[in-house]
Amino acid sequence: MKMGECEATANFDTLRAACCGVIPLPGRLEPWMATACRDENLQELIDQFDSPLNLINTDPFIRNIAALQLVASELDVDLGVYFARKANKCLAFVSAAQSQGCGVDVASAQELQQVLDQGQPPGQVICTAAVKSRALLALCVNRGVTMVIDNVDELTHVRQVAQHQPRRAVIALRLSHFHHDGVRLASRFGFSVDDVPKMVAKELDGDKGRQIELTGIHFHLDGYSLQQRVSAIDQSLTIAAELQSLGHAIHFLDIGGGMPMSYLNSSSDWDRFWCELERALRGERDAITYRNHGLGHLVVDGRVVGKRDSYPFYQSPVQASWLCELLRSECNGSSLVSAIRQHKLQLRCEPGRSLLDGCGATVARVEFVKSAPEGYLLAGLAMNHTQCRTSSDDFLVDPLLVPTGVTISSQKRASAEGFLVGAYCTESELLCLRKLQFPHGIASGDTIMFPNTAGYFMHFLESRSHQFPLAKNLDMTRFPNQIARLDLIDTLANSCPPTGRPDSLTNCVGSIEHSLP
Ligand SMILES: *Cc1c(COP(=O)(O)O)cnc(C)c1O
Repeated sequence: MKMGECEATANFDTLRAACCGVIPLPGRLEPWMATACRDENLQELIDQFDSPLNLINTDPFIRNIAALQLVASELDVDLGVYFARKANKCLAFVSAAQSQGCGVDVASAQELQQVLDQGQPPGQVICTAAVKSRALLALCVNRGVTMVIDNVDELTHVRQVAQHQPRRAVIALRLSHFHHDGVRLASRFGFSVDDVPKMVAKELDGDKGRQIELTGIHFHLDGYSLQQRVSAIDQSLTIAAELQSLGHAIHFLDIGGGMPMSYLNSSSDWDRFWCELERALRGERDAITYRNHGLGHLVVDGRVVGKRDSYPFYQSPVQASWLCELLRSECNGSSLVSAIRQHKLQLRCEPGRSLLDGCGATVARVEFVKSAPEGYLLAGLAMNHTQCRTSSDDFLVDPLLVPTGVTISSQKRASAEGFLVGAYCTESELLCLRKLQFPHGIASGDTIMFPNTAGYFMHFLESRSHQFPLAKNLDMTRFPNQIARLDLIDTLANSCPPTGRPDSLTNCVGSIEHSLP
């Protein structure tokens, strides 16, 4: 361990000491998060921009991209990284991707228009939106953005749109229902791998395909299984070869996102947490979650059943090592990477979450602390659960507590246990379902930091229910040497109707750039 790392670890330990789960799940932290926690202006920043406040940093993002590119160069494979920006809306990540020669994967007309307005070359953008309006398709065709086609209706609309445009539409096909381990990988998306050649013959060969250029094969699988991706790549290569032999200039294979990452350092913390949760559910120990919430598990006849409704916060391998292992996997007697080379294909991937590892944290003010008759504390934060949540049950990483309330609170800071509750008026509005320990207490005026929230947690579910404003996004990349600035997305959001037509956004971005401080 280098000296600097040693210091950083010590710093993190002090930070972590003020708050941890009854069964701890200490998160992986970046030095910049510790710097932000220790900064004397942290509270002032929250007062200025309101609570909660999303902090972002693009340095780890660039590091994560570089790690993937290093694997590609070591394995001698042509790799195109396309950042899936639905995982975080901040435009700082689009600029950072651009600075690294990376592409961007967009999931809506608004995302696309903003990316183009940022100067991203259209050839470096791919549109994978689940539902595509004709306006979105027209924008793609007009600007030369590759569209990933999901179904025959979409293909028909592309053809219609392209008839009125001087250039050909560039498309890739989304494949699904791959064969794996004797079953099909079910999906609501894409064309079944078995039906694709017939579909292409019917819809794209001869005159019908005149306005459309089929250039790539794409898939994006649910979950994080490496073996499923081996099967999907293998079957995609067969389809690519078949389509190439039919005269289609397939030149890339896009394996989508779902590259795993870890929020925790230790597999034993993760395993212990689930083991203790099961014991709690069976009544063998005190509850470790609010009202003994099962996070997807239930007890039936004394047995724990059901599936964890959570992201796998600890996994291994992850990120670049995972990609390396995937590409080195054997299939039909050769490695995937050599098969991809043999088919003369560029490999593309669309990571969202894993590129954002280390790139964000959400900070919020503790507004009140009260004792519940059950014997624990409830700490109320100026924040709601949609500001740090994805579609699964909970954020399973210990928050950090910064005792900024120490000077303004008259309450004695005694050791306590309890829960963080949020601003929506429902009984279930908890910011964290796990019971937390506060060895030095928690008081109004304190600051809570949820670490590593850039991937999905900040933005995927954020809502304006109760008319709360959306959280602001502050770019801390050059902080504290330079002042932290709001991300461009916050200025955009204020001046554009959220459902504005794509071309109306162009004017917005143009005018905003001039009015930035
Ligand atoms: C969501 C999504 C991604 C990104 O997935 P991550 O799990 O964030 O890496 C990539 N491609 C498509 C088509 C997606 O829907």
